[in-house]
Amino acid sequence: MMIMDYQLIRSKRKTLSLQINGNAELIVRAPNRLSVKKIEQFIDEKSNWIDKKSKSTLSNKSKKPDYIEGEKFLYLGSEYPLSVNTAHAKGLGFDGQIFSLNKGGKVEFLAWYKAAFKKIALPRLEYYAKNHQLSYNQVQLKSQKTLWGSCSGVNNINLNYLLIGAPISVIDYVIVHELCHSVHKNHSKNFWQLVFSILPNYKASKCWLLDNGHRLQNL
Ligand SMILES: [Zn+2]
Repeated sequence: MMIMDYQLIRSKRKTLSLQINGNAELIVRAPNRLSVKKIEQFIDEKSNWIDKKSKSTLSNKSKKPDYIEGEKFLYLGSEYPLSVNTAHAKGLGFDGQIFSLNKGGKVEFLAWYKAAFKKIALPRLEYYAKNHQLSYNQVQLKSQKTLWGSCSGVNNINLNYLLIGAPISVIDYVIVHELCHSVHKNHSKNFWQLVFSILPNYKASKCWLLDNGHRLQNL
């Protein structure tokens, strides 16, 4: 049985009801005296419905930004506000606390994210390759909808530069994951052992991507 988090609202009602709110959280309405065991049994029976419903709520929620004053944007796992109509000359600026944009939006963010990824992530790719005797051929940076990275048969590595919105540990995980594919062209036990030997905490990064990956695509 899977344990789900939910908010319980009890009242004089006679039946149980489940609702997924705008944040994809589960709200359970239950009669005053119904036992928690019965309630959680009911939740468990409806787990497929809950899963489907909360996923579609999340995908509807990931609406595109308007690139307006105060709107927040991810960089290395933290959110920073945008300031618009500033005296900022051209493209997108970042002073460590605030993004500044004179005009535009998506194009400027994509260009900035790509440049930042090049500067921050590519040296880490080199570092992990050198230190763990893993080799790659060419690297390409892309902004893909479905992939964070890939490694071809001849060890050409593609990395999704939208990952620059994620914590550095998550960027490292994707880099190491693809580098390990230069040795193991599959997701076998040996593959995961190699990933683990380099990044013992890789599972937390994997979870972060599952939970937050959609946020990186919000441009
Ligand atoms: Zn893989």
